[in-house]
Formats: sequence, C-alpha cells, structure tokens
Amino acid sequence: TPHHKLNKEFLEKELYPHIKRVKKCDKKRILVTGGAGFVGSHLVDRLMLMGHEVIVIDNFFTGSKTNILHWIGHPNFTLMEHDIVTPILIQVDEIYHLACPASPPAYQFNPIKTIETNVIGTSNMLSLAKQVKARFLLTSTSEIYGDPLEHPQKETYWGNVNPIGPRACYDEGKRAAETLTYAYQTQEKVDVRVVRIFNTFGPRMDENDGRVVSNFIMQALQNQDMTIYGDGNQTRSFQFVHDLVDGLISTMRNEFTLPINLGNPVEFTILELAEELKGFIGSESKLVKLPAVQDDPKQRRPDISLAKEKLDWEPKFSRQQGLLETIQYFRQIVEADCEATRR
Ligand code: NAD
Ligand code: UDP
Repeated sequence: TPHHKLNKEFLEKELYPHIKRVKKCDKKRILVTGGAGFVGSHLVDRLMLMGHEVIVIDNFFTGSKTNILHWIGHPNFTLMEHDIVTPILIQVDEIYHLACPASPPAYQFNPIKTIETNVIGTSNMLSLAKQVKARFLLTSTSEIYGDPLEHPQKETYWGNVNPIGPRACYDEGKRAAETLTYAYQTQEKVDVRVVRIFNTFGPRMDENDGRVVSNFIMQALQNQDMTIYGDGNQTRSFQFVHDLVDGLISTMRNEFTLPINLGNPVEFTILELAEELKGFIGSESKLVKLPAVQDDPKQRRPDISLAKEKLDWEPKFSRQQGLLETIQYFRQIVEADCEATRR
C-alpha cells in the first residue's frame, strides 16, 4: 500500500483533493531532518505529493523506515541514514529541521544526546543553510513555555522552565535551538522560520513512545488499564497532524520570521481525553491513577491569533475526526500483532 496503514478513504476524500501540485519552475529540493519520524513522514508525504524533490536525513532513533517506505525508489526521493550531530553538506533550497526525539521517555532516555541533537545538530543544519543559502525552518515546541504562568500561551511569553529538571534536556535544548536560529539570522543572514508546535497526534505515532494519545488508544484497544499520571486534571490542547503539516508549509512560504505557535486551541483535561477515547473505542479498560511525573506542565493551550493573522492558518479537523482516524490506525497495528502471535 502506498501509505503504510493509513486510511485510503480519508486520504482520497479529505486530504489529497486539497494538495496542489507545484509548477515545474517552483519545484524545490527540500531537506527534511527527522523525516522518518511521526510528523516528518507526513510532511514528506505532502511535499512529495506537491511534486518537490525530498531528501530525508534520519538516524532512526525514534523514527522508522516503515513510515516512508512507500517513497523509497521514487526518483524525487532520497533517504540518508545520518546523525545531524555530525556536519553534512548537501545542496538544497529549503530545510525543515525536525530531527529530535519528541516524547518525554524518548528524549529523557539519553539527555546528553538530546541536548547535543538540539544544539550541535541545529547548529550544523543552520551552518548548512548558510553555506547553500537555503531557507531554514526550526520545529520548536510549546515546551519552551515550561509549566506556564501565562494562559493561554502567546509567542511573547518567555516561559517558566526548570533548567535542571528531567525535561530540561528537551526544553532548554529547544530554547537554545531557537536562540541559535536567530543568532544565525542576525550574524550570518540566514533566512529563518520558527514554529512552536503544541501537542500533536495522528497515525504513525510510535505506539511505544509513551505519549498520552498513543498510550491511551493502545491500552483501550487491548482493554488494559489506562494510565493517568497524577490526578488527570492537567490540561493539553491536541492538534491533528495534518493541520500541523499545513501550518509548517504555510510558515515556510511566508515572509514572517518570528516564532509562530501551531496548535489546536481546544483545551481539555487528560482525564477527559481518557474517557473520550474509552467511549470512542467501546473499551472495558479501567482508568488508573499513577504518581504524577516531575515538572509536568499543569495547563497548556496555544493562542493562535498570530498564525491566523500572518498565515491565515487555523486547524481544519475536529478532534473527533482526528482521534477516530488515529484509533483506526492503531487498531490495524493491534490486529497485525494478534495475527503475528497466532501464527
Ligand atoms: P519523532 O520522535 O517521531 O521524530 C523525530 C525524528 O528525528 C525521528 O525520526 C528520529 O529518528 C529523528 N532523530 C532524532 N535525533 C536525531 C539525530 N541526532 N539525527 C538524525 N535524526 C534524528 O517526533 P515527532 O513527533 O515527529 O516530532 C518532530 C519534531 O517536532 C521534533 O523536533 C519535535 O521536537 C517537534 N514537536 C513535536 C510535537 C508533537 O506533539 N509531536 C510537539 C512539539 C514539537
Ligand atoms: N500522560 C498520562 N498518561 C500516559 C502518558 C501521559 O496521564 O500514559 C500525561 C502526561 O503526564 C502529561 C500529558 O498526559 O500530563 C501529556 O503527555 P505527553 O507525554 O503526551 O506530552 P507532553 O507531556 O510532552 O505534553
């Protein structure tokens, strides 16, 4: 199948009709670092379908070849196994810089490597952008706001981050990556863009990566306990990955260079998310409360007025539509696992 386990009907009806192929003269060579990951692989799909030439760099730490398998062998597609902590020189017009583990268990597995990826890796990619005169887009995160004291979060908020806590390798890593990006803009005249991504979910999230949407869906599908960390009253605002991809491409095309929040402003508690997913799936799982994790932000919701104003962007998909698509994806994984166990 062309899009590994994705829902063909959804792609053909909801997504593909909106994708415009570029004219030959507008075709670009585009590097996507972290392109074998969850968000990266959807971005690669979109850029390929638009008719661009796409080069993926990934070290497969949290990403997987399976996510982009359907493009291997296509004349416009190149996959390079490479770690961005080591410099590389390739001729490209644009760089979407996503490489960095994004789930807390993954980025806390080797905190030194996470910081190196964010600082040395980002510096290498900015240096590449300078050398080949490419436009550079950094995927930063709502985590740079830490456990926010301002709610909802606007781009002007400076954040509340514990610099030595378990999340610091990621939060401070991304903050430094933003600083580096604007240092290259000022000092080296690199053409930069920065987006701050809020919690995103969708098909191709790694089922074992420990993020809440994948955990809850996998648990509910298998009637296992659904694990709530803390009292479950902490809030998040989740966007469907296809909305994010729209926002990334719009930002790259836009002339605005300061950070832009990309997220869905509909906020709800983790407990509500668990109940909702349990209901959609018709699961018999119990909700169990486990100890809270350290430095877990208590609330998070993007203010997206800047994205609306500058990019004319806002999420198009409802949470329900996104969650149902994601459940369908994970259901296929669970069924394939059961099949493999039976054999
Ligand atoms: P992911 O873990 O699925 O993807 C990250 C990709 O980067 C993986 O394919 C991984 O193998 C690769 N990678 C990691 N370190 C690397 C290195 N040193 N060299 C080369 N490749 C490396 O995560 P994702 O959810 O797709 O996130 C993509 C980007 O978006 C990340 O930068 C993340 O910080 C950012 N982001 C994501 C979310 C979210 O909710 N998904 C929220 C905020 C920000
Ligand atoms: N969470 C939870 N159970 C899980 C996984 C996560 O209650 O099995 C909580 C987590 O403590 C946090 C929220 O869900 O409050 C979102 O967690 P995730 O790891 O998905 O993203 P992040 O913490 O980076 O926002």
